[in-house]
Amino acid sequence: MGLNGKVGIVTGGASGIGKAIALALAKAGVDVVIADLSEPTGQETVKELEATGTKAFFQKTDVTKREEARRLIDGTVGRFGRLDILVNNAGLQHVAPIQDFPEEKWDLLVGVMLTGAFLLTKHAFPHMIRQHFGRIINIASAHGLVASPFKAAYVSAKHGLLGLTKVIALEGAAHNITAVAVCPGYVRTPLVEKQIADQAQAHGISAQEVMEKVVLAPQAIKRLLEPEEVAEVVVFLCTDQASGITGTHLAMDLGWTAH
Ligand code: NAD
Repeated sequence: MGLNGKVGIVTGGASGIGKAIALALAKAGVDVVIADLSEPTGQETVKELEATGTKAFFQKTDVTKREEARRLIDGTVGRFGRLDILVNNAGLQHVAPIQDFPEEKWDLLVGVMLTGAFLLTKHAFPHMIRQHFGRIINIASAHGLVASPFKAAYVSAKHGLLGLTKVIALEGAAHNITAVAVCPGYVRTPLVEKQIADQAQAHGISAQEVMEKVVLAPQAIKRLLEPEEVAEVVVFLCTDQASGITGTHLAMDLGWTAH
């Protein structure tokens, strides 16, 4: 795939979609740095990555912290000598009606999913410009394209991430740096499992009803995506064959936004 020897960072790479992306990149020959809050799961993931024969490293990082974001990029380049791929994937959800939406949760969600992506891109750019190569993949969501009730911060952060993706593409174009936002529908991960429980509480219905009436209702294809499906798309977007795809989003939302 032409990715052998490249170096990538996956934020939130210790769980769910991020972990699947890290494994798929490693299988394609990429040395991967996992950046996550969770050290034990991060270290476990590193062991799985090393079993593919590539180099891997865990760096405990809170992407909302300016100094930690800078240290993640500097540490990666210090260790591996380069940085080719940045996957801004770390994320979380909070479900609440807007009049009750906790302001600190707003700050947290926007901080992780929008400001974190900005900070890491800012620090990655000088290295990618120097190399005349870069791939920035932002894991957005169908909620970067459409809204759902009770998700004010998540929907706002993901819409913002699509805007950031376009700016990165315009500024990166002359330096062979591309940026794409991937917009999945619901994916089978711990984030969705927690959300189903939260939505059940918010709507006053059972988890089974949340699955039928909330989760699967807007999707034309009535199933969850698997994390590996998202990961394969991300790997493709990192290849030379995808070098013309930039400043846009790729919806893999099971027909959600076809309505
Ligand atoms: P997950 O909860 O399984 O994993 C998220 C990871 O992000 C965790 O390991 C967590 O520790 C990490 N993280 C959270 N805050 C962080 C911070 N401040 N700094 C560093 N790491 C942090 O979730 P997931 O479902 O795999 O979601 C991954 C991404 O995919 C998120 O951006 C999410 O919005 C997006 N997404 C998920 C779905 C879905 O249905 N699961 C759908 C569309 C988009």
